[in-house]
Amino acid sequence: MIKDAFDPEIFRKEGHTLIDDIATYLAKAYEGKELPVFPAKQPEDSYHFWKNYQLKDNNQLYRDLITHSTHLHHPGYIGHQVSPAVPSSALPILIGSLLKNGSGVYEMAPTGAALERIVPEEIAKYIGYDDGASGIITSGGTLANLTALLCARQEKGLGDIWNDGNNKRMAIMVSEASHYCIDRAVRIMGLGADGVIKVPMNDRYQIEVDQLEICYQKAVANGQQIFAIVGNACSTSTGSYDDLEAIGKFAKKYNLWFHADGAHGGAAIFSAQYKHLVKGIELADSVVIDFHKMMLTAGLCTTLIFKNVVDSYKTFQVKAQYLFDDAVEEEWYNMAKRTFECTKFPNVFSVFALMQQHGGKLFEAYVDSTYNLSKAFYQILETDPDFETAHIPEANIVCFRFFDDTLDEAALNILNKKIRAQLIHKGDFYIVQTILNGQLYLRVSIMNPLTTMEHLKILIRDLKALAGSIT
Ligand SMILES: *Cc1c(COP(=O)(O)O)cnc(C)c1O
Repeated sequence: MIKDAFDPEIFRKEGHTLIDDIATYLAKAYEGKELPVFPAKQPEDSYHFWKNYQLKDNNQLYRDLITHSTHLHHPGYIGHQVSPAVPSSALPILIGSLLKNGSGVYEMAPTGAALERIVPEEIAKYIGYDDGASGIITSGGTLANLTALLCARQEKGLGDIWNDGNNKRMAIMVSEASHYCIDRAVRIMGLGADGVIKVPMNDRYQIEVDQLEICYQKAVANGQQIFAIVGNACSTSTGSYDDLEAIGKFAKKYNLWFHADGAHGGAAIFSAQYKHLVKGIELADSVVIDFHKMMLTAGLCTTLIFKNVVDSYKTFQVKAQYLFDDAVEEEWYNMAKRTFECTKFPNVFSVFALMQQHGGKLFEAYVDSTYNLSKAFYQILETDPDFETAHIPEANIVCFRFFDDTLDEAALNILNKKIRAQLIHKGDFYIVQTILNGQLYLRVSIMNPLTTMEHLKILIRDLKALAGSIT
């Protein structure tokens, strides 16, 4: 049994069939006709389908895994902020997961460790950092943000928190529109609900710069010690970019760690047209960028870059002598000294391959086309009395709602919720919803480079038809 399981010839045969099946699937997904974007089953249906699954043929199993998933390569996929992967970028991931070279320890991953240094160094140049900037690779932005804030606390922290605990009422400042993982990170760090000071937003959902000083002084008067401030580049709900330059200046004035959360919109660094949105990002002490969002890579992969890479060694002052000859020494190649993960997935293979094959131009073309299309979509919604927009889009995220002036706010919420539920059930589109100022809005993230204005016009038509059938 074990011999068969490891047989290279069985693998060769199944592998060839699998690649053929994936290529056929992709062609069908791009067409956007036969597959529902979201198979729209209830969670219990999905559970029972797989619970009762009977294996007939290995390749049939792989086909079923594909068919019963949400299809990001379908042009009607305009929901969450994960991009469809460039297909070829999944191939290095196959190698990575087969070889399982975890870069926590250099001797387990000589290539992975090198790539995890090279990729952040390369991104650091696009950010506009000087030499001495580099970082780490993590599994997702949530982990990267937590790592950055832990580092900030060690660096700006008042005393040795890692060993002595938190007795200083430490806190950070963030926009009200920050991703929930920032709030969660602060609670994980033991700083409690008071550890997050939410700075109010302006009507474009950006941090209100005038409020920075006010919030800071209020917190200090309250006996809190602020050690960091997080800027959004861009925010999750509406894709709004905070004024990073102003935040950078403010951080400098009070010696705060400035962290830029560019999980989604950090990729604007690649775009001549949209670079202005991240003006001031080079002032940040640390920056997070998700490769699986606006950099098209397979799998999930994130970088956390430090303006001064030496800071990254302060995050965890662990003593794991069986792993490292010297736990204090700054060994760039033993990644676990600076990352949460011990056995670490070599997801960096994918982004390294894409950067080798296309350079920054691929990301620039992607940012430009999706951001431009969002603006055009917004223009159409703006001139249509059946819709109300929530904001002028800066990125590729547009929040809007079906509008009917005979309905009150509560009824509009119910109507828009129903419209979305029926739309995704139909299967031609997948969009999400969000709450802004207490109201429910439909939310579109144009993540698929195959989505065109024609698709969006059909979306508008479908939304109107659904609204008509509900009211
Ligand atoms: C998506 C997102 C995150 C979380 O990143 P994951 O990769 O999903 O863990 C954090 N911050 C912002 C602004 C995001 O858009």
